Amino acid sequence: MNAAAPEKMAAMISFDIPPEVLNQLEPYAHLARTIMRPQARHYDEQEHERPYPFIHAIWPLERARHQQLQAHAAQEFTDDEPDLDVLFSILLAELLSWGDAGQFLARPGGRLGGTAVAAAGTSAQKVHFLERFAHSDAPVWGAMAITEPDAGSDNSAMRTTAVLDPDTNEWVLNGQKIFITSGALSLVESDGICIVWATVEPNAGRQGIKSFVVEAHTPGVSVSPGMDKLGIRASDTVIINFDNARIPYDHVLGDLEVQTQNTTRGFAGAMKTFDASRPAVAASAVGIARAALELTKEALAAAGIELDYTRPRHLQTAVERDLLEMEAQYKTAWLLTLKATAAIMHGRTNRLDASMCKVRAGTAVVFVTQKAVELLGPFGYTRAALVEKLMRDAKINDLYEGTRQINLLIVARALLGYSRRELK
Ligand SMILES: Cc1cc2nc3c(=O)[nH]c(=O)nc-3n(C[C@H](O)[C@H](O)[C@H](O)COP(=O)(O)OP(=O)(O)OC[C@H]3O[C@@H](n4cnc5c(N)ncnc54)[C@H](O)[C@@H]3O)c2cc1C
Repeated sequence: MNAAAPEKMAAMISFDIPPEVLNQLEPYAHLARTIMRPQARHYDEQEHERPYPFIHAIWPLERARHQQLQAHAAQEFTDDEPDLDVLFSILLAELLSWGDAGQFLARPGGRLGGTAVAAAGTSAQKVHFLERFAHSDAPVWGAMAITEPDAGSDNSAMRTTAVLDPDTNEWVLNGQKIFITSGALSLVESDGICIVWATVEPNAGRQGIKSFVVEAHTPGVSVSPGMDKLGIRASDTVIINFDNARIPYDHVLGDLEVQTQNTTRGFAGAMKTFDASRPAVAASAVGIARAALELTKEALAAAGIELDYTRPRHLQTAVERDLLEMEAQYKTAWLLTLKATAAIMHGRTNRLDASMCKVRAGTAVVFVTQKAVELLGPFGYTRAALVEKLMRDAKINDLYEGTRQINLLIVARALLGYSRRELK
């Protein structure tokens, strides 16, 4: 770190949210309060029913936001001119997950698919593939498909293949992806896109893996009925099968010359998606944790129990100590998430912080929501209270976008200076 860096960092550390970002959040806060939260229980009970009141209410806002994102697509961000869209999207993930994490995941827009195109696509691909999210009258979804029956945490075991047919200059995809969020919404129920990771050379490990843009209604692509889940039950989660699905040559994300060679640069481009998506998952976890904390405090206040922050720790009751621990975990998770976000906003790499905040927030939300159920007693365990749902919704944040264990490995490697081969 050079001598000027600490000063620069001090100037960057500000927790004031710019007024324009706060204003932009306001209509979404209204939706979270008036549509998402009141409907949360219904869509939890009626898994596989689409939350259309929320989808139709949010689509005009999301479409306008994608128009804004397209206008800024070519801009470079620096310390002096940070990318406020990034801050906005993290605050939005927190806010909408406070409303209801299941409906948040069913939200139309580019989602993970859009993040992948933005992270790894060429300028022309960004314009071409993301335009539908900015201009379609009907809601459109994006998704990303990596996980396979025998390749989850270990991507190098991936078996979905993409073979170039020299006669037609098309990629031919074969294989199966499982647990794909918004898979049906993106590929069948709208004119969306799904970014599919596949290997052009199964024996080349990560070097062979590239990401491909599959458009909705592509022949040879089929989607299973939705899966039944523990939590986030309003979210669409499906298996996708590829049976000789043909996609155009230029639908491989990134520079074509790089993508058609065996090099990890294609894989690295795809991995950049996680640098942006892991802080968003962490923010979603923090939103659920905040909801659980608020509901717990309200219930305890109604019973005459309020936190007194000035009382020495040894004089606090067990309940007060639990509440303080919940708050501490929630706040540390949020601060780490904002730190990872600040790096992206200023155009810097954040791989360590992205994994760190994901681990911290995943652990915190599981702890906070379990404690909420515990502190509310038998009532907390019933469906009359929302906290049992929050506890079920919480756990996914510890699983997808790299499990807690995998993100801990990334953190450990970065801190200890080990390579992937040395620490696995
Ligand atoms: C609701 C839901 C939505 C999802 N959405 C998507 C999506 O949109 N797109 C997508 O591609 N995938 C999605 N996934 C899949 C998710 O990302 C994977 O489940 C996750 O990456 C783990 O992979 P796996 O299930 O194969 O588990 P495995 O890799 O088999 O892991 C099983 C367990 O072993 C642990 N483990 C594995 N390797 C190590 C190691 N080296 N050291 C220590 N522990 C290890 C893991 O942490 C985990 O606890 C979703 C999953 C769910 C449940």
